[in-house]
Amino acid sequence: MLMPSFRKHWNVCASDIARKTHNPIRSIVENIVVEPNPNKKVIALSIGDPTTFGNLIPPKEVVEAVQDSVASQLYNGYAPSTGHEMAREAVAEYSSNEFVKVNSKDVILCSGCSCALDLCITVLAREGQNILIPRPGFSIYRTLAEGLGITVKTYNLCPELGWEIDLDDLKEQIDESTAAIIINNPSNPCGSVFRRDHILDILDIAAHYYVPIIADEIYEHMVFPGRTFHSLASLSTEVPILSCSGLTKRFLVPGWRMGWIIIHDRQNVLEAEIRKGLQCLSQRIIGSNTIIQGALPKILRNTPQKFFDDVINTLYSHSKLAYNSIIKIPGLKPIMPDGAMYMMVYIDLQCFPEFNSDVEFVQRLLMEESVFCLPGQCFGCHSYMRLVITVPSDMLEEACQRIQEFCERHHYKTAKISRKNGFVNKILY
Ligand SMILES: *Cc1c(COP(=O)(O)O)cnc(C)c1O
Repeated sequence: MLMPSFRKHWNVCASDIARKTHNPIRSIVENIVVEPNPNKKVIALSIGDPTTFGNLIPPKEVVEAVQDSVASQLYNGYAPSTGHEMAREAVAEYSSNEFVKVNSKDVILCSGCSCALDLCITVLAREGQNILIPRPGFSIYRTLAEGLGITVKTYNLCPELGWEIDLDDLKEQIDESTAAIIINNPSNPCGSVFRRDHILDILDIAAHYYVPIIADEIYEHMVFPGRTFHSLASLSTEVPILSCSGLTKRFLVPGWRMGWIIIHDRQNVLEAEIRKGLQCLSQRIIGSNTIIQGALPKILRNTPQKFFDDVINTLYSHSKLAYNSIIKIPGLKPIMPDGAMYMMVYIDLQCFPEFNSDVEFVQRLLMEESVFCLPGQCFGCHSYMRLVITVPSDMLEEACQRIQEFCERHHYKTAKISRKNGFVNKILY
């Protein structure tokens, strides 16, 4: 015997969280509907996955560690939701240095760095509060926060100062509802690496306004020769910092989904609730991949320095290659990165009167030259495009060549001259 139904028809709709969650990159890229030039092989300088082209692969020590982990049959079961103790210990050791001693109880293993960021944002910010994120910046912070009804405010980075934070702007954005500041160093999309003094200034502001920091340091140690990576936690004694990192970028294994949070709270100012909250939130996905946890001690202890050095040297030589070709192109201004895997290029749209925006520029570049770069708008920053520099060097060279031909064809000066003289001249100005 069934009771009369309180519903008269099917009406299954998405929740508010589902509706409010969206990735700005997706919506911008999906609006680019043009087809690449069928006569030219597509070169995607848009994909932030270093494994795409097979030129960058993890070292054999790392692969063997995972093989051993599977073969041992020890990691088939559930782990504690924050991770196996020996895996957390390995992360604590890996993340300790002469300035910071990390304890395994301060480590929470997550499903990639994105999940680490998700937990940190969720534990610190309530609906109606706000978090501050960099502009230009990685879009996932917005995706994660807005889904939860947390407002996102941006603070500016200054291209003319190597993408340092505009500290006055940062201060201005902080209000009584600011739950956290997200700092991304080294930066995606800028490839910038903060100087020690700059980090100290940032920490002063956080301390003055009593705002905790979420440090997205997924590119930690990925800095070019002559630069130094300073973690936020290594320079702070008072600001509570939740540092997020993982294997993804430095070990070239994004698909393995292994990241972590390290709780740095030397003055014990975080309520016990925060630690407890992170633990509870980690139970939503019942912990991270146990096979990779089983391999973590070997991965973090046995990866030879030469592997890291080789990757850095490749990225450094690629960025010099791209910089040196693009700096010669009229209307474009590349900004040489100091680390990570990206380079931002300023597009002087006044030089290209046919295009009204960076989106139109990259769209036509794809249509005519089959080269695809992400428009700056994906990172909240107009008149730029982001190049990924992990692609093989011959492809990168070819891409730069095509970008040059494209720019010369559409530059108002060259376009005029080429019409008059009947040939495309390589006019530089
Ligand atoms: C790639 C990336 C991440 C996410 O890394 P996963 O471990 O794949 O989740 C986080 N932050 C930034 C800035 C990134 O570029």
